[in-house]
Amino acid sequence: MNSSSLVSKVIVVGGGIFGVSSAVHLTRLGVQTILVNDGPLASGASGRSLAWLNSSRKRSDEYHRLRMAGIDRYRTLAAKYPDVAWLRFDGGLTWDADDDANEIAAVFRYERDIGYDAQLLSADEIAAVTPGVDKRSVTPQGAVFNPGEGWVDLPSLIDILSQEFLERGGTLVTDAGLAMVMVENGRATGVTLASGITFEADAVLLATGANVPGTAAETGHFIPDGTPIALLVRTKPTQLPLRAVLNTPRVAIRPTPTGALVLDSAWSEEEVIVRPGGIYKVKDSTVARLLEEASKVLDGNPKLELDTYFVGPKPIPGDGEPVFGQLNDIARYYIAFSHSGATLGLIAGELLAGEIASGQLNPLLETFRPGRFG
Ligand SMILES: Cc1cc2nc3c(=O)[nH]c(=O)nc-3n(C[C@H](O)[C@H](O)[C@H](O)COP(=O)(O)OP(=O)(O)OC[C@H]3O[C@@H](n4cnc5c(N)ncnc54)[C@H](O)[C@@H]3O)c2cc1C
Repeated sequence: MNSSSLVSKVIVVGGGIFGVSSAVHLTRLGVQTILVNDGPLASGASGRSLAWLNSSRKRSDEYHRLRMAGIDRYRTLAAKYPDVAWLRFDGGLTWDADDDANEIAAVFRYERDIGYDAQLLSADEIAAVTPGVDKRSVTPQGAVFNPGEGWVDLPSLIDILSQEFLERGGTLVTDAGLAMVMVENGRATGVTLASGITFEADAVLLATGANVPGTAAETGHFIPDGTPIALLVRTKPTQLPLRAVLNTPRVAIRPTPTGALVLDSAWSEEEVIVRPGGIYKVKDSTVARLLEEASKVLDGNPKLELDTYFVGPKPIPGDGEPVFGQLNDIARYYIAFSHSGATLGLIAGELLAGEIASGQLNPLLETFRPGRFG
């Protein structure tokens, strides 16, 4: 790896949160940056994310540290935009099913021991802490409330960041079809668009969400891929009092900037029918049941009406941990591929931009490099 030289021009491929965040951070560092995307910005996973900002439950120390830095950057952003409807820190409430796998007490102890702000609440205690929850749906083991958690509306954030990117002189190319990274003599040299137009650059960042492993494989790099096809349901505006992000055994819920709710769950994801050619079918019964499950955990059990739903890949590396950094043997070819891209979006963009611009490796990304797969 050529770690000492500086770059002056970078192409970022992918207009999701990782691409846009990296691109704006590159322009903040004074690097001439072109951001290309196949369709409009935020048309991939970032446009249909639950986007709960958290580091809840147990994970590797390194991953926890990175997520906490991610939340820290959102805190800074929230201080800059204190009253916006698209970024809220109203906490998260989690409970498990009433079965042998319920680990809510252990989760609480673990979080408390590592200094992650957590309260173990009985069903009766919840209303005094956070509104809008039907206490009858909370299992006898109780729930963990994490006051430091929040949520972000990623399309709104991407809009704000892309405006700054343009103001700082970045070049935005959207609706350009699939771009291909050019590699010559063991180095990324630029990108070719579907139209045949090429852009040359000193470095390329591939932040194409679920497409990253396939593209990396074309260069002989194996990135294990655990990407499922995910479903996100949005209700019509409800104006319910719910503020926290809810993670419950049958449904996860968060408010939206317009007073609606978005919902997802593991079981509804598994019910999506995946047909050849990237065609996904969502059963009406799945959507109806998810709306019912959400109603059950909300105070007053309101009837929730479907506004729309979104279905598509949720980028997840095979080992569950982020993949950020330069490919092992192709100089200046960087990739960003991770789950929890809402939580990590700002920090990953900042750190990747720093590494690309300076060639200096950041220790926070040390365990997440693509080279770990050999
Ligand atoms: C249902 C759901 C729930 C989630 N919940 C959470 C959560 O609670 N908390 C959390 O932190 N994260 C969550 N995530 C994860 C988070 O949303 C993603 O990790 C993040 O949005 C991924 O961003 P990205 O930039 O990698 O990819 P994307 O947003 O998919 O962006 C990639 C872009 O690249 C484009 N592209 C692909 N190939 C090419 C090409 N060759 N040329 C040009 N453009 C290309 C795509 O069209 C897309 O626009 C969730 C995701 C989903 C789907």
